[in-house]
Amino acid sequence: MKQDRITIYRAAAIRDAQGTHARPGAVAVKHGRIIASGPTDSLPKRLTKNAHFIDRPDELILPALVNAHAHLDLTPIGPIPFSGRFTDWLREVIRLRPTEPKAIIDGVRRGMRMSRAAGVGHLGDIAGSTAAVMGRRQAPDDTVIPGVSYLECFGLGENQASTIARVQRALEDLPFETRIDHHDRGAVLGLGPHAPYSTGKDVYKAANRLSHQRIYRLSTHLAETPEELQFVREADGPFAELLKELGKWDEAIKPAAKHPVQWLESVLKHARWVLAHCNYVDDEHIDILQKTGTSVAYCPVTSEYFGHTDHRYRDMLDAGVNVCLGTDSILCQPSDEAQPMGILPQMRRLYRRDQTEPGTLLKMATTHGMLALEFSENDATLQKRAPAVFAAVKIDPDDKLDPLVQALLNDHPVTSIDATHSEAV
Ligand SMILES: [Zn+2]
Repeated sequence: MKQDRITIYRAAAIRDAQGTHARPGAVAVKHGRIIASGPTDSLPKRLTKNAHFIDRPDELILPALVNAHAHLDLTPIGPIPFSGRFTDWLREVIRLRPTEPKAIIDGVRRGMRMSRAAGVGHLGDIAGSTAAVMGRRQAPDDTVIPGVSYLECFGLGENQASTIARVQRALEDLPFETRIDHHDRGAVLGLGPHAPYSTGKDVYKAANRLSHQRIYRLSTHLAETPEELQFVREADGPFAELLKELGKWDEAIKPAAKHPVQWLESVLKHARWVLAHCNYVDDEHIDILQKTGTSVAYCPVTSEYFGHTDHRYRDMLDAGVNVCLGTDSILCQPSDEAQPMGILPQMRRLYRRDQTEPGTLLKMATTHGMLALEFSENDATLQKRAPAVFAAVKIDPDDKLDPLVQALLNDHPVTSIDATHSEAV
């Protein structure tokens, strides 16, 4: 007769953002889920008696991390240098991005494999096409990552009505949710109006309406560059030039005389949104983000790549805004980064640059991300019933320094542990 096997991971330390903090620590797993965690000698005998032990004596075990903003379909391009002008960079992306469905699907899968290998357990992906959505869903089980595929849409001025009709048609052909074995919930569908310089307010409002019909998650890029602020305020500047060059300009595109956050406020009020970046916001805009329950996906490495400084993520957190972490696309990651789709490099950047409190970084990298993606926060912890997917990082067990601080200061890659397939033996 088969027995339910318990596997216990014993590590130099374990830590999550919900109070688990043990050194040494252990996590007990059964049927792919955590059944207990804590100091190694605290696990009850009934669990340890017939358990199978896996020892990780020089590693810190964290819950798998959450990447709340990625562009998996751009993975094949790899890192590219930034020329100094955002609109030139966009032209380059338009030129380089895969357009054939097979190439898109392959790119998405490659991005997922890299993300999983880097210890990412949930992911919010901006899918540039229906092929990118399907590529994520049809991948083999050991590659798929739960989370959201935000179907990206573009359409300004007079093109908005046709954009909305196109999105509605696309949604009819896409399954809302694909379950993933051994995880609570699979990959679900979201909508991603691209940004205020490519997508009009009617499209954002339609996304809200659609989200109410079927709980589509919502995300967009907002307040990313000074050029975007200029475009929303004045309908002028480099983005207006780019639109004219692409033949996307028409007379229905008008200045809003507002900051992008104010411009979108009425939309943010009526649904939950995840805003990527928010590099350029003032106190009054942070207030709006807080009041509307909006999440911000901050991508520190990408932000620096484009030369943006002084991101106000700590002010946002202090104001009660849910700030999580993202990579954005691989294009903006350093070419010598071993795990460009990982979230630990984002945490390391913030710790080393800003000395942000490690526990805060861990929240941003786990539970805050889950809140943004509208998944159970518990699933990115080491608490009972969370899926047994972990991010392990080498540390020195004899070093008195806090294990998480060690992981933030060293450059060891993350080892991904997926024990969600540990079934009865
Ligand atoms: Zn992005």
